[in-house]
Amino acid sequence: MDNLKAIVVGAGMGGLTTAIAMRQAGYTVEVYDRVRELRPAGAGISMWSNGVKVLNRLGLGKAMASIGGPMKRMTYISKSGEVLTDFSLAPLIEKVGQNPYPVARTDLQQMLLTAFGEDDVQLGSECVAIEQTADQATAIFADGTQATGDVVVGADGTHSVVREYVLGTQTQRRYAGYVNWNGLVPASEKLADKESWVIYVGNGQRASMMPVGSDRFYFFLDVPLDYEVEPQADMRAELQQRFAGWAEPIQQLIAQLDPEKTNRVKIHDIDPLPAFVKGRVALIGDAGHSTAPDLGQGGCQALEDAWVLTNTLLTTNLGVADALKRYEKARCDRTANIILKARKRANMIHGKDPDLTEEWYQSLATEKGDNIMNAISDLILQGPLA
Ligand SMILES: Cc1cc2nc3c(=O)[nH]c(=O)nc-3n(C[C@H](O)[C@H](O)[C@H](O)COP(=O)(O)OP(=O)(O)OC[C@H]3O[C@@H](n4cnc5c(N)ncnc54)[C@H](O)[C@@H]3O)c2cc1C
Repeated sequence: MDNLKAIVVGAGMGGLTTAIAMRQAGYTVEVYDRVRELRPAGAGISMWSNGVKVLNRLGLGKAMASIGGPMKRMTYISKSGEVLTDFSLAPLIEKVGQNPYPVARTDLQQMLLTAFGEDDVQLGSECVAIEQTADQATAIFADGTQATGDVVVGADGTHSVVREYVLGTQTQRRYAGYVNWNGLVPASEKLADKESWVIYVGNGQRASMMPVGSDRFYFFLDVPLDYEVEPQADMRAELQQRFAGWAEPIQQLIAQLDPEKTNRVKIHDIDPLPAFVKGRVALIGDAGHSTAPDLGQGGCQALEDAWVLTNTLLTTNLGVADALKRYEKARCDRTANIILKARKRANMIHGKDPDLTEEWYQSLATEKGDNIMNAISDLILQGPLA
């Protein structure tokens, strides 16, 4: 369909990628976000090859490569410092046809904003309701203003208001059983190989560093904790205590991190939703499928959504509602599979069944890389831009 007007609610990575794709399709696009200043939650993200392929397709491949880290290997190390497995990611990259890129979230957001047009995002616009008729759909904002188009895209993240409209009911987020601290530190060989994604494991906990652009590491530390456990006042002391006895690079990482700039996140997901669309309104990204980050696929799926949604609108001509149904059909099973797989993996990593976690540690010690890379490439190649 030609000459559509799209209203995108939410200027995260999903909303901005949708906006770029739709504008490239020749559509008029308006983007609204509730915040007054766009600051992505979280420090870094691994953009796997399926997400990067969407960006390539939108002409952003070079820009992405320039902010991505040189992640060429993957290394698992026990908490006491024994290397369990260390392998080149070259066979994976060859199989899927594209490098993955770990990136700082602010760099990714800036790249997408620059591509769409920073001044074209209308900030301070909190969507509070959606209405639609047979011919158009409208986002209504807290200040009483409205935006009407042929289609409304709910890219408003895991606490989505648009989702409530689409489903007609509220959804419960589900605590995944662990807390994740994440941030950025200057890259240093004393902490980890600057070209590897290095992950220390033990006690159902992880300590990970991966290279992002500008010679920095994106790190995360995760620990299974009861939901009620509150953060301690001294974050560094808390992490030192939770990772006491772990290998020296992890002690150095904790000593170096900036508590003021380190995020503490209780990890959640949401059961797969029964629907992504209602008439002329579609959900994309975390609004449609909130997943635990244990496959590193939440953001990548948001980018896949953006691509598929734009293409179903472009390539079919029976009307917007028909195109959105096709989008929903294309995306529901793919994203449900990822939510459930990530949940299973989160449980295995974080000691939900300690025997299974122990088996995983033992399997890492005999891993040559093939099993891990096959699992990653299967996930990537099941995407729309295989
Ligand atoms: C610790 C952690 C690590 C992760 N690691 C990875 C990874 O390595 N790889 C990966 O692919 N994914 C990862 N993810 C998942 C990824 O962060 C999300 O899937 C991704 O950010 C979703 O993008 P989005 O655009 O759908 O939503 P968001 O990024 O949440 O953006 C939503 C936007 O909507 C706006 N908004 C919200 N409500 C309203 C409203 N009512 N009106 C207007 N605007 C509104 C918000 O201000 C925000 O700007 C991780 C997640 C976590 C928590």
